[in-house]
Amino acid sequence: MRHRAKATHHNRTITVDFCDESTYFQVLSDGKAFVEFVLAFILALGFQLAHKTTCRGGGCLTRHSHYARVRLGGLTLWRLQCTTCKAVFTVLPHFVLRYRTMRPAVARDALIATHGGLSLEWCAVICHISPMALYRVICAFGQHHVVTVLTRCGLPLPTYILADEKHSRCLTERVYLPTIVRGRVIWHLGYSASKSAAAFTESYGVFQRAALEYEPSYQVRGALTDGFDSTVSSMRTLFPGARLGFCLRHALNKLPDKLIGVSASVRQGLRSKFHALLHRCRQRKSLRVVALGQRLRHLANRIATTVGEAHGERVRQWFQAKKAGWYAVLEDPQMPAMSTMLDQAHNAIDRKLFAMKGFHHPGGAQAAFLTGLAHLYNLIPYQRRALNAGQCGVEVEGGRVPTSDWMLNLQILTSGGFR
Ligand SMILES: [Zn+2]
Repeated sequence: MRHRAKATHHNRTITVDFCDESTYFQVLSDGKAFVEFVLAFILALGFQLAHKTTCRGGGCLTRHSHYARVRLGGLTLWRLQCTTCKAVFTVLPHFVLRYRTMRPAVARDALIATHGGLSLEWCAVICHISPMALYRVICAFGQHHVVTVLTRCGLPLPTYILADEKHSRCLTERVYLPTIVRGRVIWHLGYSASKSAAAFTESYGVFQRAALEYEPSYQVRGALTDGFDSTVSSMRTLFPGARLGFCLRHALNKLPDKLIGVSASVRQGLRSKFHALLHRCRQRKSLRVVALGQRLRHLANRIATTVGEAHGERVRQWFQAKKAGWYAVLEDPQMPAMSTMLDQAHNAIDRKLFAMKGFHHPGGAQAAFLTGLAHLYNLIPYQRRALNAGQCGVEVEGGRVPTSDWMLNLQILTSGGFR
């Protein structure tokens, strides 16, 4: 698969929207018009070019050289050079994918079919491309970290996050996908063969490093988890100042497990009581923390009297162990309370991993593939009948996308030459 040891050469490719193929061929012959078109495009996006670190990038570009692309039937591409730092930018017109003969229009259809849940094999049948080609396109977009793409859309780094890991499979091995979500946007989708705290810290640390690179003072104020030990301890290690909450819905679903041997209807009744309790505490904005402690004690006593002291005691101990995490959720109105959004994202991603199981083996490019899927998840608009129809997750969260075309957005936002 794809090897990552080629860091010596900077990718300073920029995708530029020429609106029309004919426009591109027109300006191609006129150097001045070409440079002006490219600069105007970059200015309209509000992006900056990734000059060398020493350069203040005064926006001076000269046309550097051109070369013909043999693989694309002799298409001419221009390279522009900064006159100050000598950084060279390759200008890729919107109708070309980097290093690929596949046309964006073909990739678009195949990607949307994949995103919609069709297996890579079926996408390939419908779109007449090989499953491997589709897999590689997704991996290519996945070379760019989600943080890079989302901050380019103007989204602020998330101060409150949902962190959780999906338990999945790679052939017969158990694997884990440590994930960070804020609202409808995936900020991190990692991959780990181990569920140890060290492995999760490593994975979530990739997000932290990318975020700190963008904003050195970045801090997480609150993180919601489902209480899994490795996730909790990796959050403590990486974000020591953050409030750590436990998902309230997860708590609700766990209660019946604490009442083994009790009839289903009684367990269900007690779960409803617990649900009402958490719901009321969330609504009582002023007293909610005090109220929670009291109400939990009452509920445990009630369980003891209805189904026996042994059950009451087990639930009491469970409340004791978890209530700090529930307090943390109730104390701060900005804390997310439930990880429903994350569960939905996880199920969608897990279906895709399953659908492409032919590529999902220990030698595969898991990290790049998953990051590519995360981009699709964030940038493909919701379908016609959905709540936020026509908008993508980034837009729902208040971000801006460069154009009204999601495929073009994906191409532009994952260009290595923008900063
Ligand atoms: Zn420069």
